[in-house]
Amino acid sequence: LTPQSTFEIERPTVSFDDVGGMDSIKEEIRMKIIHPLTHPEIYKAYGKSIGGGILMYGPPGCGKTHLARATAGQVNAKFMSVGIHQILDMWIGNSEKQLHALFEQARKNSPCVLFFDEVDALGASRTDMKTSGSRHLINQFLSELDGINASNEGVLILAATNAPWHLDSAFRRPGRFDRVLFVPPPDRPARSGILEIMLAGKPIDKVSYETLAKKAEGFSGADLKAVVDVAIEAKLSEAMKEGIPKPLTTKDLQQAMSKVKPSTSEW
Ligand code: ATP
Repeated sequence: LTPQSTFEIERPTVSFDDVGGMDSIKEEIRMKIIHPLTHPEIYKAYGKSIGGGILMYGPPGCGKTHLARATAGQVNAKFMSVGIHQILDMWIGNSEKQLHALFEQARKNSPCVLFFDEVDALGASRTDMKTSGSRHLINQFLSELDGINASNEGVLILAATNAPWHLDSAFRRPGRFDRVLFVPPPDRPARSGILEIMLAGKPIDKVSYETLAKKAEGFSGADLKAVVDVAIEAKLSEAMKEGIPKPLTTKDLQQAMSKVKPSTSEW
């Protein structure tokens, strides 16, 4: 039984400009993984080690995946996104091989951002199912991260979780996920920026981003995307009747907002 070991490789067209808010997080990503890639000699001159990844945590829909993809676009790197469940579920008994194949593929395609979603699924499996062989998978993951058998130069490793407390502390040692960043629900200026990004290039008429952002307390980036989708949906039928694109207004978006529930309130 030899599973296919090819994972999808993207060439993202989004960059940091497509991510609203998150200025300090973007800066951390620049310092920790982008600059070491573009200027390794400067880091080496100061004796700064290169390598290691960033673990992002926070409520769903607040842009962790989007930011990882934009990081790749920012440096013209390729992008591979893998859910840990994808590895755990699809190749039972063969997960370690798959994980190795995945890292190998990323190394061959460097520069490449390798993004792991739901990494907490790994930690949970270690404590809950000690005998199931998932411990081997964790050890495999750690040695791939450490680059023991092959260098990870040019492979930028990012991971995301909604439940960082489930992740085994071994993952947070130096050279592994030694930076942990909270990706919060967007604040008011970030919500304004996100809406502006989402409506860029679309027919709009004097949209007040400030008014909308104020009203959108508790809305995640994904919620805001839903708002824009609902507003466009409503506008489309109007436009179809008249045969021309009708611009979206603040009122259209406010109406759409009342139909979408904010998902991050409890965070
Ligand atoms: P999950 O934990 O559910 O995987 P996530 O934090 O990875 O969530 P994303 O999938 O990145 O969230 O976000 C969902 C969508 O919301 C993105 O595809 C993007 O369109 C939009 N979005 C979220 N945050 C932002 C942002 N800061 N700027 C622009 N768009 C955003």
